[in-house]
Amino acid sequence: MSIYENIRSVKHRIEEAAKRSGRNPEEITLVAVTKNQPVSAVEEVIKAGVRDIGENRHQELLTKYKVVDSNVNWHFIGHLQRNKVKYIMPFVYLIQSVDSIALAKEISKRAEKIGKVQDILLEVNVSGEATKYGFPPKEIAPAIEELAQLKNIYLKGLMMMAPLTDNIERLRPYFAEIKRIFDDLYRRQGPNVEMRYLSMGMTGDFEVAIEEGSNMVRIGTAIFRP
Ligand SMILES: *Cc1c(COP(=O)(O)O)cnc(C)c1O
Repeated sequence: MSIYENIRSVKHRIEEAAKRSGRNPEEITLVAVTKNQPVSAVEEVIKAGVRDIGENRHQELLTKYKVVDSNVNWHFIGHLQRNKVKYIMPFVYLIQSVDSIALAKEISKRAEKIGKVQDILLEVNVSGEATKYGFPPKEIAPAIEELAQLKNIYLKGLMMMAPLTDNIERLRPYFAEIKRIFDDLYRRQGPNVEMRYLSMGMTGDFEVAIEEGSNMVRIGTAIFRP
């Protein structure tokens, strides 16, 4: 299967999952994760009509941004070191993986320097695994209060990495828990908070994530496997 065909198949599966949960498939954003893929693959994805591209390393994002000649929404989805923020700031669309207050502060500071308000998502560490980045669910609300002081970031939602498992049905409660937190925050939005994106679901689990309320999925393997 070509990248084009893989994308069609992923979109079809997104539609079916959305319908199963009584939602409009158009509400769900597909982010193609192009990490470790050559520029030509990124270009094929764009040709297939996908406008949202995700990368998890700042250097790779920069390299691709420089050569891909298209108007694309570049998403950053990996662990971002504070001293790398300035490199991606001028063009990154959404930083999904904000995993500490210190990082949020650096983003706001750098954004202010170039007169930008940067959209971000907070990364949630739902399973509490110490090896994972992100805020434990309980720390999200207090974190948001702190972030409200930062003028040059705009909090647009939450991003979740599911724990590894060979039984995706076990992930349902995790997805549902984050959806509940998301809905709760939705009711309490502030001047720089607007809960719009709930980014959860990857190749192995995106249909379950959508059924549980995700509206943004990050897909790599299902698009690039031969
Ligand atoms: C690689 C990656 C994905 C995509 O994973 P696949 O299983 O290849 O679809 C999604 N989100 C993040 C943060 C990733 O690093």
